[in-house]
Amino acid sequence: MSGGQRLPLRASVHNHTTFCDGADTPAAMAATAAALGLKTLGFSGHGYVPEEGFGIPPERMGAYCDEVRRLQSAYAGQLSILCGIELDTQTPPEQLVQAGELDYRIGSSHAAQDPAGRFWTVDDTPQLFEQAIREGFSGDALALVRAYYRQFVPWVRALRPEIVGHLDLMTKFNEGGRFFDEEDARYRALALEALDALLEDDLMLEVNTGAVSRGWRRLPYPAPFLLRRIREAGGRVTVTADAHSAAALTFGFDKALDLLRESGFHSVWELAADGWIERGL
Ligand SMILES: [Zn+2]
Ligand SMILES: [Zn+2]
Repeated sequence: MSGGQRLPLRASVHNHTTFCDGADTPAAMAATAAALGLKTLGFSGHGYVPEEGFGIPPERMGAYCDEVRRLQSAYAGQLSILCGIELDTQTPPEQLVQAGELDYRIGSSHAAQDPAGRFWTVDDTPQLFEQAIREGFSGDALALVRAYYRQFVPWVRALRPEIVGHLDLMTKFNEGGRFFDEEDARYRALALEALDALLEDDLMLEVNTGAVSRGWRRLPYPAPFLLRRIREAGGRVTVTADAHSAAALTFGFDKALDLLRESGFHSVWELAADGWIERGL
């Protein structure tokens, strides 16, 4: 623990703007962050997914960074602003190189690749998720989960991003076990195996409230059984909002901290301009 600092959290670093699929401009997000009294605001625009025409194309990265750097100067001394990116397993190599120049990277996957090689987005709509299971994986949701982690884990271990994004994203539309049983030992074994590999590399995991703010889930990613494993293994977590609007910048942070306390965590990590800060719970 550093310097006996107490909560609440003062950093929000998983955020999207109008440069990708967010509703608000970086300037609007920064104004809200300053009004909230945050110390660190990070922008993590989506890396490009050419197959979907989704995210910030490599040729738009210059404009994105210029705008974030402009805000950095405008808020100097008041709010530290970081320029990051949320990379995806489908991000082209050119952008992976560009990302190396940024302040930080979130490594995420938003899709599972079926045996025929087709990518299915897991977090777009429940209808598309149902179609992915039915058409891509012959109705076997656990085969989708297996494929998701099989692609994601080696990729993110090689990338070594500052933050690993929403570890169990494929549960987004699964409240109440709509598509698969999250208590099923076979599902849990797949998720725990993936998590253990990331813990072996001491990667920072996020507690992400994005699906809660959008009304899909009651609890943030990752699920409590995964949080318990992280704590048992001495792993590190940071709390993020995956905000797609200024209003969501710190959504659910207090509840996430309660959840961490209940799961036995003694500290949480926050990204600042000069690196990670550990804060006591
Ligand atoms: Zn994401
Ligand atoms: Zn995101």
